[in-house]
Amino acid sequence: MAETIRSTKIEIDLDDRDAGGANIQKRKCLELTQKILNEARVFYVTFFLSLPEKFDERITYYSEKHGEYRERKLNSKELLAWAESITVSTREHPDVLDEQNFSLKFSGMPVVYRRSVINDAIGKVRSYLSHLKKWEKSGEGKGKPGWPKADNYPVLYKGTYSLQLIGLDRKGSFVRIKVFDGSKWVWVNYPVKIGRWQEKRLAEPGWETKSPKLVIGAKKIFLSVPQAREVRARKVEESKLDPELVTVGVDLNVKNLAVVTVMKSGKVIETVFIKDSGLDRHRYLHLKLISKHQRQSGKAVRGERFDWRLWSHIKRTNLDFAHKVSRKIADVCAKYPRCVLIFERLGRSGHGKGGKARRINRKQANQLRGLIRDLSKHKAFQYGTVTVETDPHGTSHYCARCGEKGERFSFKNGKRVKRGWGKLFYCPHCGYEVNADFNASVNVHHSFYREYHWRIEGKARSGLKRPARLQAGWEKLP
Ligand SMILES: [Zn+2]
Repeated sequence: MAETIRSTKIEIDLDDRDAGGANIQKRKCLELTQKILNEARVFYVTFFLSLPEKFDERITYYSEKHGEYRERKLNSKELLAWAESITVSTREHPDVLDEQNFSLKFSGMPVVYRRSVINDAIGKVRSYLSHLKKWEKSGEGKGKPGWPKADNYPVLYKGTYSLQLIGLDRKGSFVRIKVFDGSKWVWVNYPVKIGRWQEKRLAEPGWETKSPKLVIGAKKIFLSVPQAREVRARKVEESKLDPELVTVGVDLNVKNLAVVTVMKSGKVIETVFIKDSGLDRHRYLHLKLISKHQRQSGKAVRGERFDWRLWSHIKRTNLDFAHKVSRKIADVCAKYPRCVLIFERLGRSGHGKGGKARRINRKQANQLRGLIRDLSKHKAFQYGTVTVETDPHGTSHYCARCGEKGERFSFKNGKRVKRGWGKLFYCPHCGYEVNADFNASVNVHHSFYREYHWRIEGKARSGLKRPARLQAGWEKLP
């Protein structure tokens, strides 16, 4: 069993008040809340770092499992209780030093917020101390771990927020958040933009909703609501023994962004072509424009991204495509329970011929492939599908039917022209002629089963024997 997490964005409506949005003062409260929580985190990071020995303190306890007394370090819960006993004055601990008095500096902060900040600080300090110890042990001069950063987006634990979705009239949906208005903590209602899709997703059975994070951006503010689910997934080695195993192979390319083939018992049972619908050309034209601007204006200012608007457009478009393509791949996986999703290991790219814009475009296309692979892996795992990567050796140059080396070609003026990156694949050995990306996609399955020209650590294997798995169901050629 493993856990998978997904998150859903709920945007807080910051439109004009007469258009149903929150007013400026309400927005300000969210920023102030983040600010004061960051300050409180700094307070506790500083506090814990002034007494780091507490993290190494050992206590004795009785272990039921081992039937004896044992030693262990303090856990987070105990560290929190200890920190509160020193920094928060209560009836039991009335004497608190002024400079350590949290309640004095942050009066009225709800306990839930205080505890979340203390827990954050414990995590940050603990990881800093362990990095520091490792660094000291290594004896290296460089790479001293930096002081822990205290900035976080606020997490809204139980008791600091409530989400009210009011039926059909979506204009009536709002989230109630306990915020800091600059002098005191108050409850404020924020209208939210929530669609049918999000509502359905949040209510989907089987998912456990966790505390949302309040993400405050320059323009937009939204709640990122995580949901967790237990996933039952088979180990790949175990799956491989299953004769009924369905494998989903993906070949990632430029024009055909992804060619998905589904195989069962040596037969292709489904094929999906996902085209780039002009993305590559679109991106190339933008990059050409950027490089032209750069040429005209000379050297870029250090630390400043040139043409950041165009750049962020390119990045956003890439991510958007990656989400869409990976959703389609995951949807294919969802149809075949217990299937295995196979990708080729991606190589480095972005070098080679062509002008600057062309080289950068290749690099971006490669990054997009990485994004598609990573997002597909994450999305498919929610259906219990495990993803593996295989050696990409020869997938686009060898015949998926017989395993012999073939050639790629395309048509020019009605004539066949042999080309390294031709759209079509031809095998002179068995006469197989097919779309080159489809051929590569089927080869991904062979690579997974270590059939044909598979390699171990860069060493090519010779002797192309047709695997027994494919003996049956292989049609004879005319
Ligand atoms: Zn062949």
